[in-house]
Amino acid sequence: MRDNIGDVIGSIWSSTDVSQNLNYICDTIGSRPAGSESAHLAGEYIKKKLEEYGLETHTHRFEHPCWEKEITEFFLDKKSLAAIPFHFSKSEDLSGECYILDNPSEKSFERASFQGKILLATPTKQRHGGMNRKDMFKKAVEGGAIGFIQMSSILGGVLETGSIGNDFTEIPALSCSYETGKLIERMQKRGKGAITLSIKGKKVNKSSYNIIGDLYGKSDNMVVSGAHYDTWDIGPGAFDNGTGISTVLGLAETISKSPILDSLPNSLRFIFFSGEELGILGSEAYAKDYIDSGKTPNVSLMCNYDCTNIKGGVRGAFTSNSMPMHNHIVDFVESRGFDIKMSLRPPHGTDAVHFAHRKIPTFGLAQFTAPSYMHTAFDTPDKVDISGLKNSTAIAGAILVDLITQEII
Ligand SMILES: [Zn+2]
Repeated sequence: MRDNIGDVIGSIWSSTDVSQNLNYICDTIGSRPAGSESAHLAGEYIKKKLEEYGLETHTHRFEHPCWEKEITEFFLDKKSLAAIPFHFSKSEDLSGECYILDNPSEKSFERASFQGKILLATPTKQRHGGMNRKDMFKKAVEGGAIGFIQMSSILGGVLETGSIGNDFTEIPALSCSYETGKLIERMQKRGKGAITLSIKGKKVNKSSYNIIGDLYGKSDNMVVSGAHYDTWDIGPGAFDNGTGISTVLGLAETISKSPILDSLPNSLRFIFFSGEELGILGSEAYAKDYIDSGKTPNVSLMCNYDCTNIKGGVRGAFTSNSMPMHNHIVDFVESRGFDIKMSLRPPHGTDAVHFAHRKIPTFGLAQFTAPSYMHTAFDTPDKVDISGLKNSTAIAGAILVDLITQEII
């Protein structure tokens, strides 16, 4: 009997595409925000690769609202400072004093009083009882702040981006570097900390594309492997999610060449979602247009790959909606000695959410620890460990092939 698992692992390890795909997507194309020309180019590249591997492809177009930044000005007295407005920040000109909360908790918000002021808050050591951006922003609005500034907790002039919601925020919101935040703090103590800011942006409608590739099996039951390919506008998104793109392309390449293709019990669908960063929009559109509409309703498993490797990271997998599948994977991983921590947990803030909500079993492979430079300009391929990325992809491939050939799902 052939060792299908061994074949898959060997094929992923000998693929030159795993690193080449990562480098092309991140270095040659670069940042690829949903709805942009570069996102379109990334989608075309992925589609071409899937066709090269022999998959049947199509694109799924969806429309979504997007925010286009027009003006950002940020001054401390007369000094102009660098800042990035958060996606869908309210357009407004304002000036005022800052109220500073360093690494706040729910408790520190209870004691704070910033009515009529700009709230300047640092995130977000969540493990130590800190708060994330959306929680802090909500508290800022509730407490009557006129503006919200998130100061980075990373040293070295780093500007972070992100979203607060899918429509205009109640008050203007932007992010500044650690050093700028500290400068504001020092100047305020000397009575010179007046902030002026001006943010202007407009809501536009964009078209984005999910890229789909299929390998047909004996039944219509479909196993979906997905990764988002969009990023924020400021960085090439190597960890988030060049690694996931590379993993899913690696799975498609390997399985398309494997002998198991001749007797595939399920159909395999590989989906590259856009609009994830703007609020998991591509997978939401897919679930509505393909599953709810009855077009391809029978999804027996959704495997999601978001941030599959980083140097020094801890590899983890999360499953939901099927205890037998979870137990099977735990035993399989153990018997093979794979370096991956298994946990039972519904997906959060990533494309698998829209599948899990429809009671579909999900499996997600990701790193447990997110690097500090996520959603910055510095999420670059040099921080990805190519051996580790191949290992993540090989483990993902082994688990997938085991599940389908053992007919667990
Ligand atoms: Zn991601």
